[in-house]
Amino acid sequence: MSDETFFEPDPVTCRQLVAFASDYLDGVLSSERARAVAEHLAACAGCHDHIDQLRTTIELTRTAGQARPPGEYPGAPAHVREALLAAFRARRPQR
Ligand SMILES: [Zn+2]
Repeated sequence: MSDETFFEPDPVTCRQLVAFASDYLDGVLSSERARAVAEHLAACAGCHDHIDQLRTTIELTRTAGQARPPGEYPGAPAHVREALLAAFRARRPQR
């Protein structure tokens, strides 16, 4: 048996997954890469949690429409508010 004809993309590492995460959620990865990411997520609880938090953050910021201080989301769980804070820090240039 030979599997030469079966193309297997390189496995995605946790570090790569974090780098691809937003592209994955935006659906802009190639189908091969998206499949590799999905396979990694199925096997890696840590990255699965990371994607979950990122997706929640993106949905909250899209729902808000405009950037608002994380303090205005009193109902959000602590880990979501922390993710929002990190997103705001990354977005706003430090003065
Ligand atoms: Zn992982």
